Amino acid sequence: MHEQRTYSSFIHGSFISAPSQRADETRRQVLAPADGSILAEVYDADVTVVDQAVQAACDASAAWAGRSRTERSDVLFSLADALAAESERLARIEARDTGRPVVETREDVAATVDQFRYVASAVRVHQDELVQHTPDSYSMIEREPYGVAGLIVPWNFPFLIAGWKLAPALAAGNTCVIKPAELAPLSILELARIADSVLPPGVLNVITGDGRTGAALCTHPRVDILSFTGSPETGRRVAAAAAERTVPCLLELGGKSANILFPDAPMEKALVTAPMSILFASGQMCNAGSRLLVHEDVYESVLEELVQRFRSIRPGDPLDETTRLGPLISDEQWRRVESYVAEGQNSGARLLCGGRRLTGGAFDRGYYVEPTLFADVDPDSVIAQEEIFGPVLCVIPFRDEAHAVDIANNSVYGLAGGVWTRDWARGVRVARQIRTGTVWVNEYNLVPSGSPFGGYRQSGFGREVHMHALSEFSQTKNIFVSLSDKPVDWYALEQ
Ligand code: NAD
Repeated sequence: MHEQRTYSSFIHGSFISAPSQRADETRRQVLAPADGSILAEVYDADVTVVDQAVQAACDASAAWAGRSRTERSDVLFSLADALAAESERLARIEARDTGRPVVETREDVAATVDQFRYVASAVRVHQDELVQHTPDSYSMIEREPYGVAGLIVPWNFPFLIAGWKLAPALAAGNTCVIKPAELAPLSILELARIADSVLPPGVLNVITGDGRTGAALCTHPRVDILSFTGSPETGRRVAAAAAERTVPCLLELGGKSANILFPDAPMEKALVTAPMSILFASGQMCNAGSRLLVHEDVYESVLEELVQRFRSIRPGDPLDETTRLGPLISDEQWRRVESYVAEGQNSGARLLCGGRRLTGGAFDRGYYVEPTLFADVDPDSVIAQEEIFGPVLCVIPFRDEAHAVDIANNSVYGLAGGVWTRDWARGVRVARQIRTGTVWVNEYNLVPSGSPFGGYRQSGFGREVHMHALSEFSQTKNIFVSLSDKPVDWYALEQ
């Protein structure tokens, strides 16, 4: 199987030739977070390259938008098949590039393939509408693509998030320029290579680089819609760039989700799922269940159980089938997590386990951090309010339902949450009061195709994963048709 070691941007169906001048300045190494080894070298796209990519997408736009829904659907089914045929290779590339265990990245690739198939099916029934106003007047409401979609993806789930954006954007008839994160671009570059066998040139283009490349995409005058997943700070810049040019933008900006455990919870499942909801992807997950709210009647027994489970999670090489905890993405991310651990200790929270970098043997070369559990966390404290993006769980006791809802809603974010109770009515009642885009009841972290995913408040706006995303990437045109020759005469004298 071909393994490319040097990449550049993928434009109009091929990787562009490397810039001959200033090559060293524009070339960056992509490192494996597990051991610091060099996985690939990638050339950054400067404004000229970004412009070429957008131009390629513009040139391909009319023909792609002109295809019928059925034709676009067929192409996306073929793309899903092509990705499925290389799923194991893609999962291993993603595991090495992000540091996430391959048992996780296999799930991502499968979910991405499924997302393409789901959207390929959904676009066939995402029909236009005919509204009859009077017996002889109608609105033909047609859905049209925006044109060129600029898509920006973070490093934690690059392949999955790329699929969540690309599938509906393409199905709706847009052409795309996608920018992966500089820390983990490889699976998206491989996706483009595979897509080349089924998509016309220019329909999917990839530009590589850091925030400067992303900013050049956001400010490009021929990009018609933006979709971004990443940090709130960068999200605000993307939104400002979109506002400056009056183009729509969709934002998914992380969260500080509360997972609420009532004493009548299905406890065995809850105690397996709650650790997973913060340790999956080493906690580098926008919907991580990073605040666990536990009813005071079961508080101490739950803490004891959690400590056992946190200590038993197996860290290791992402490609090892038995590994359940990989490294953080970078040294910078480790330092960020370390500073939050110190902040938590200073805040008076009880550190029950973890908090240190894993060292010794192979761990010395990666950015591994112990699963970390803080109890008695003040809901107003920094570690309960800010997104840590590491395997750090903040446990907070609560008295009753109203108290739990108050704590859960004490956040600027509104992405997700969980409620654990065998009282189904209470589960739904509490879910309705939590101001987030998703609330799981007796579950956490499952986002199958068809689950609308996106945030309230500072977690952003717009929905992915559900067929609503086809509407996000379409604009409606109202063609008002009259069958009558009789004028609507405003000026006629009243009889
Ligand atoms: P980021 O938001 O800066 O990067 C996300 C993407 O945006 C990357 O592709 C990046 O190159 C690009 N980007 C950066 N600056 C840009 C700009 N001005 N215009 C357009 N695109 C730009 O996130 P990060 O620096 O990789 O991580 C910082 C923190 O963000 C993390 O510690 C974590 O808390 C959070 N984060 C959240 C998510 C999420 O899914 N919500 C994902 C990654 C990171």
